[in-house]
Amino acid sequence: MSPVHWLFGDQLGPHFTSTAAGGTPEDTRWLLIESKAVLRRRRFHRAKAHLVLSAMRHRAAELGDQAIYVRAETYREGLARATGTDPVSVHHPTSRAALALLASLPQVTVHPARGFLVGHREFADWAARQSGRRLLQENLYEHTRRSHGILMDADGPAGGRWNLDHDNREPPPRGRATLGAPAPYRPGEDEIDEEVRRDLDRWEREDGISFVGRDGPRLFPASRREALAALDHFITHRLAGFGAHEDAMLAGDPVMGHSLLSSSLNLGLLDPWECVSRAEEAWRAGHVPLNSAEGFIRQVCGWREYVWHLYWHFGEDYRHRNALHHTASVPDWFAELDADAVEANCLSTVLAQVRDTGWTHHIPRLMVLGSHALQRGWDPAAVTDWFHRCFVDGYDWVMLPNVVGMSQYADGGVATTKPYTSGGAYIHRMSDFCGGCSYRPTERVGDRACPYTVGYWSFLDRHRSRWESNPRMSRAVGGLGRLGDLAQVIQAHHDAGDSPP
Ligand code: SF4
Repeated sequence: MSPVHWLFGDQLGPHFTSTAAGGTPEDTRWLLIESKAVLRRRRFHRAKAHLVLSAMRHRAAELGDQAIYVRAETYREGLARATGTDPVSVHHPTSRAALALLASLPQVTVHPARGFLVGHREFADWAARQSGRRLLQENLYEHTRRSHGILMDADGPAGGRWNLDHDNREPPPRGRATLGAPAPYRPGEDEIDEEVRRDLDRWEREDGISFVGRDGPRLFPASRREALAALDHFITHRLAGFGAHEDAMLAGDPVMGHSLLSSSLNLGLLDPWECVSRAEEAWRAGHVPLNSAEGFIRQVCGWREYVWHLYWHFGEDYRHRNALHHTASVPDWFAELDADAVEANCLSTVLAQVRDTGWTHHIPRLMVLGSHALQRGWDPAAVTDWFHRCFVDGYDWVMLPNVVGMSQYADGGVATTKPYTSGGAYIHRMSDFCGGCSYRPTERVGDRACPYTVGYWSFLDRHRSRWESNPRMSRAVGGLGRLGDLAQVIQAHHDAGDSPP
């Protein structure tokens, strides 16, 4: 009897099928289970549901007769239908819920995780060597570069510095509506996408499943072939211009120089090693500057690896952390991605990007969406759930450290040393949003007061005693004492309630 290996919907590349327990890849049968209960439990962005289902069905088509494709209400039911109690192998899943499910299935053997550069054992050894110090992203990044020989010259970092972030924080070019980068790779749809779209329509009509956002033409790769084409296009045409304006935002150019590869990496269509290798090769061949190559490599083998391991390291309780005691509900206009209800140009523009594509790059996520949630005091668990459901690259392991830790500071400073939020001045410097806005970034009171500026000072004041003992925040808190109109600012923030700004 052929061995059966289960592929979750984010284990879809060849590195998950290159070797198999109990047989050879050629005689293994590959099980994929589509669970409707996953979509019934939470309101995902429809473009995300489309992408995941399309990618799973594309993978089954690639595997041909070796695929066992099961459509079931739950994973447990699908597994019982496909293999009964026969032995099944699987690679370590990417969520605690999936790992708990596997632990309850005695016939399933779990093999080590794939799709990451640093294994669980390697991370545990590295963490033990930190001797109780904070587990810093830059230290794990340096370890990963050294241990995997990435962007190294002899014993040191190529170019002499581990991190070229200071070269990558330029504002957008003034007076230009776009960065001028070549257009990103976009896939074409096929009959599998048509079938997915018909199924989603029917489930919405007949099965009580509902989504947020728009499911326009599919924008992200759903097959290995498409993911490789996207990687090649990015390295060849777009990586060179990525670095310098990595943190900038333009209303008319949401993608700028970004790779758009996060969904492909997180679906397992691409292996991080091949992404990192291609970027390094491009730099060594003189085709891209070091700050672009290093900036991209740090995203993939720095931040992504760090977040993955923090997810497992912190434990299940981490999702319930709420150090700032923020308990306000996420309002309907935000939950429903109702960009048209929002006056603030930055937030309206970014919310529309999420509504229409299920994606916006890391700075709008952090400094527009997350920052507003933090300033308004929304429940961090609900905000995390929103990010998980609404982004094509969002998974539990991605969003827990990124949102609970970095964006909402709900862990009280475990993952980051200071909260990431700002007044309108930062958004004004790093974008062209403010020119088209009815508010003014420098105004704190009156009809044209910028909601981010108002929200920033109110947030600082609300948690003043906490920030006073934080060396990275003491200067900002000192600014509160110089605001003669602070009481009006706080009142204006209070009056805004949960209405769209
Ligand atoms: Fe956003 Fe304020 Fe600028 Fe308007 S003025 S775009 S609300 S930062």
